[in-house]
Amino acid sequence: MKVLKFGGTSVGSAQRMKDVAKLICDGEQKIVVLSAMSGTTNTLVEISDYLYKKNPEGANETINKLEKKYAGVIEELYSTDEYKNKAKETLKFNFDLIRSFTKSLFTMFEEKVILAQGELMSTALVNMYLNETGVKSVMIPALDYMRIDKNGEPDTAYIKEHLPKLLEAAPDAPIYITQGFICRNPYGEIDNLKRGGSDYSASLIGGAIKAEEIQIWTDIDGMHNNDPRYVEGTKPVRELLFEEAAELAYFGAKILHPTCILPAKINNIPVRLLNTMEPDAPGTTIYNKSEGGKIKAVAAKDGITAIKIKSGRMLLAYGFLRKVFEIFESYRTAIDMITTSEVGVSVTIDNTKYLNEIIDDLKKFGTVTVDEDMVIICVVGDLEWNNIGFETKVLDAMKDIPVRMVSYGGSNYNISMLIKAEDKKRALESLSKHLF
Ligand code: ADP
Ligand code: ASP
Ligand code: MG
Repeated sequence: MKVLKFGGTSVGSAQRMKDVAKLICDGEQKIVVLSAMSGTTNTLVEISDYLYKKNPEGANETINKLEKKYAGVIEELYSTDEYKNKAKETLKFNFDLIRSFTKSLFTMFEEKVILAQGELMSTALVNMYLNETGVKSVMIPALDYMRIDKNGEPDTAYIKEHLPKLLEAAPDAPIYITQGFICRNPYGEIDNLKRGGSDYSASLIGGAIKAEEIQIWTDIDGMHNNDPRYVEGTKPVRELLFEEAAELAYFGAKILHPTCILPAKINNIPVRLLNTMEPDAPGTTIYNKSEGGKIKAVAAKDGITAIKIKSGRMLLAYGFLRKVFEIFESYRTAIDMITTSEVGVSVTIDNTKYLNEIIDDLKKFGTVTVDEDMVIICVVGDLEWNNIGFETKVLDAMKDIPVRMVSYGGSNYNISMLIKAEDKKRALESLSKHLF
């Protein structure tokens, strides 16, 4: 069975929902994972923000606007009064629940419950539309099988145990509809897989049922060779290795949630990135074989902080790096890039929650300097070191841009460079010009 995930834009209007319905009704049994309609999760975050700030009027105004939008969608989506009324009744429950948190500022409101309503509503709307058109699709509630553990990591054993049971209860369903993004935590409370996490839902589901393929349907024809939000004329990459796709997703290619490759890779399930607006375009296939000897794509990750620790004591010392890493570990802060010399070490982090504490501790080992507002540029492809000439090409493209760190050889798949945020667009454009 295949798992097909449709992102926010793909279900962003009544017409788009109808297009998705057409696309998925091909007689093959499948699991369809849906995001919230585009803009909805942001609006739900905004509502929560008003509630945090104890401003129920602001929250109510935003809720009313959102509800009006959904009333319009219902009007356009269904053709019978029966289904229009059914949909209104269903969504009334979601909006009543969101509104209940504005009634008394003394009630603890639960942001994650509010955020979950986006996916709950989009899946209800599409499922009812399919039912109205005679397709007997069945809803599989994500809150009944998707779960994270105490560390916020997916509880894959739980998912593997519970999802198949729900599917087996409706063996003849032509289409199973389920929510992306939302889950429960080990205490049974509503939680989520972090923003953009519907891709992760799809690959966790794929892994749990050993799917034949995971398809991520979005608003672009696959992974492009550079970030289309910054560079003109980017082109889709037809094939990527799991490792290459994981590097690109982690280092800023927004088309994929950073964590979504791992479950697919572990279970060796191909992931295809496809365009809802252009369903016949080949898109990108991610699996364990791909054309070698080529640079495939470039991505950029924002919000990076570089920390340099300079120390005379590093000279000829062993154990120095361990002590440095232990400090980051003790503050549960992941390091992205690292470069070393005989007298110092530079690392980058993106989580600055404990930056001050980390700097204080590092000062015991040497002089510490910090550069904020940096960007990691990541060049991905078959960069095995015997493939000569690629590093030269990459560095040549960067010849007019100040580069703070370079990391190469950590894997066979990437060269990463740290630059100032203000140079990002220029760097991405120059890399496209020189490499593709
Ligand atoms: P969805 O809502 O379907 O999950 P996203 O907005 O999360 O869609 O991801 C798709 C977007 O990712 C594209 O519209 C594009 O602007 C952006 N993007 C960033 N980098 C890339 C890339 N290298 N290739 C394709 N899309 C990219
Ligand atoms: N709706 C969620 C978000 O906007 C999850 C997703 O779309 O993947 O972050
Ligand atoms: Mg996304």
